[in-house]
Amino acid sequence: MEALPSSLSNPTSSLQLLLFVDKRPSSTEKLRQILSRLRELGSAFQFGLQVIDVGERPDLVEHFKLVATPALVKIHPEPLHTLAGSDLIAQLNRTWTQWQQAAEDKGKTGAIAPTANTNGSVASPDSSIAHLSEVNQLSDEIFRLNQDKQALQEQLQFKERLIAMLAHDLRNPLTAVSIALETLEFALGRPSDRPSRLTPETTAQLLRHARTQAKALDRMITDALQAARGSTGKLQLQPQKLSISSLCHEVVSDLQNRFASKSQHITIDIPNDLPMVYVDPERIRQVITNLLDNACKYTPDQGMIAVSILHRTTQKIQVSICDNGPGIPDEDKELIFEDRFRLERDEAKDGYGIGLALCQRIVRAHFGRIWVDSSGQQGSCFHFTLPVYQ
Ligand code: ADP
Repeated sequence: MEALPSSLSNPTSSLQLLLFVDKRPSSTEKLRQILSRLRELGSAFQFGLQVIDVGERPDLVEHFKLVATPALVKIHPEPLHTLAGSDLIAQLNRTWTQWQQAAEDKGKTGAIAPTANTNGSVASPDSSIAHLSEVNQLSDEIFRLNQDKQALQEQLQFKERLIAMLAHDLRNPLTAVSIALETLEFALGRPSDRPSRLTPETTAQLLRHARTQAKALDRMITDALQAARGSTGKLQLQPQKLSISSLCHEVVSDLQNRFASKSQHITIDIPNDLPMVYVDPERIRQVITNLLDNACKYTPDQGMIAVSILHRTTQKIQVSICDNGPGIPDEDKELIFEDRFRLERDEAKDGYGIGLALCQRIVRAHFGRIWVDSSGQQGSCFHFTLPVYQ
């Protein structure tokens, strides 16, 4: 920083200026000319001046929104006025009388600048700069706090929606468990002269169904807790050798009532010689359930839904779940896999935009890929790959 000789730079004058300069050699001559002109002006009317290197005070450059150097800023009396650019001296000559007049008026009325000291004298550029730095720091802090507040509000809203979703989604499997248990209880509680008509196979099937649904409940609660904590946590997988074909049939059978309630037609096309896969069964059940659930939800009544599997390479199989619903616009084919993204068109339908994001996390955790094919009104085909058990 460079200052004018003390006889010219008067920290108590009611006209206070900041001169912003840079250290480029090409700027030296320009600075010399400006200082020389200021010296001339200062001999007739004293003012306070501080020369500031922009490299040292980027915060002030930002504060005054300076876009060029040199720049001369009148910080007192208010309002702020900035002169900048190669013709700064010409601008200064045009403006000077006005600045001087404003400073004299302020001096007469005894008005105190916002940066005035407690003793009533006008603040020097040094104290103004200290004040500005403080204001800058505070506004940075306010900006950060506002961002934090917004993030917290979003988190809170999301948690509220999750609770609403849980209350809604837990009901289906819970009802299924209750029905299975009540049926068993009723059959077992019948008097011995009127024995239960449940065959051992039906009893086993009811128990299996209740257990599967209870597991689904458990998984939904775990996912909700995980989603509430944020999607950054790593998924814990318990992979094992599994027949993907059986799993697909199980999930389709679990959702049969839902398809029936919309009179939708579901087909399954799985080759007999499909190899076993190496996956976490509950996680993959979740992926298939989510995709089938979406297919059912977004496809109109009497729609067609198809599950098929291909043995794509020696290492991978590909599961596809297709429907003839409204399809996905090209520009949204990747976005739908983002957390909390929903198509505007579907906002009236139940949902929170987390299903596909979760599917993607699960599939990726299995080193697979998930994507959607959709063209025009032909519906959507969601595909994902899984590793073959070697
Ligand atoms: P949700 O269904 O809860 O909104 P998802 O993450 O499962 O959340 O899906 C994100 C969005 O993708 C949905 O809101 C919907 O707009 C669209 N979508 C998903 N599956 C289908 C489908 N089979 N057909 C049409 N649109 C779909």
